[in-house]
Amino acid sequence: MRSLWLGFGLCAVALGCVLAVSSAAQEWKELKGDHFIIYYVGDDRFANEVLREAERYYRQISVDLGYERYSNFWQWEKRAKIYIYPTQEDFLKETGRQGWSHGFANFDTREILSYAWKDQFLESLLPHEITHLIFRDYVGFKGEIPLWLDEGVAQWEEPGKRAIVRGTMKSVLRSRKGFSLKDLTEVDIRNANLEQSVQMFYIQAASLVDFLVEEHGADNFISFCRQLRDGKSLNEALRFTYPTKIRSLNELEEQWKRYILDAPG
Ligand SMILES: [Zn+2]
Repeated sequence: MRSLWLGFGLCAVALGCVLAVSSAAQEWKELKGDHFIIYYVGDDRFANEVLREAERYYRQISVDLGYERYSNFWQWEKRAKIYIYPTQEDFLKETGRQGWSHGFANFDTREILSYAWKDQFLESLLPHEITHLIFRDYVGFKGEIPLWLDEGVAQWEEPGKRAIVRGTMKSVLRSRKGFSLKDLTEVDIRNANLEQSVQMFYIQAASLVDFLVEEHGADNFISFCRQLRDGKSLNEALRFTYPTKIRSLNELEEQWKRYILDAPG
């Protein structure tokens, strides 16, 4: 059971945090693509792989989120920057992050900072943080966007995560240890210190996005996000997007739970 939970960690997006990348301590090499510039130390091969995968994820995520027509926003001097520190120790020291952090995205500067963390960098961290950047570009900061939606989308774009979520969510519901949707929306998980709460938060977030996209379609999901961006409350955005199906957070919770519990397996 324990292994199922791996990968549901706190990603701690740097909301509104201005962070200057220290260039003095590192001799950065630079690798440029259409939408990304990779800054790295050492291994050229890994940097090339990161660039190739970043561009591929960018295209896929843009299509998924209906962002394609805006893709010119990330070109030339507006390219996103990815800093790859040589070790986690360097990364933590230079960015001042907590010991558990493997990387994060900075919205203000359109940067992703991490280190050459080979296990999960390409499959997990990279698509996750690129999604955060694209999603925030898309929905902005003015609307009432719950953190579960932000983290749900970011995880949904990690290859492999959907299958893990689908295989786990039913037992979470049956155990009755998860959050109610109201609590999930109101809790500030960044202040939670219980590992189990953090894991529950992340898995439920991913499962809700999976339900909305798979059961009600990507176009509706994009429309729902757009309503939030334009200032509607959660309930208003649901009612507007799914007028005959999901008219409130309560109805979303009921239908999502039924969908999970009725799924085979
Ligand atoms: Zn995240």
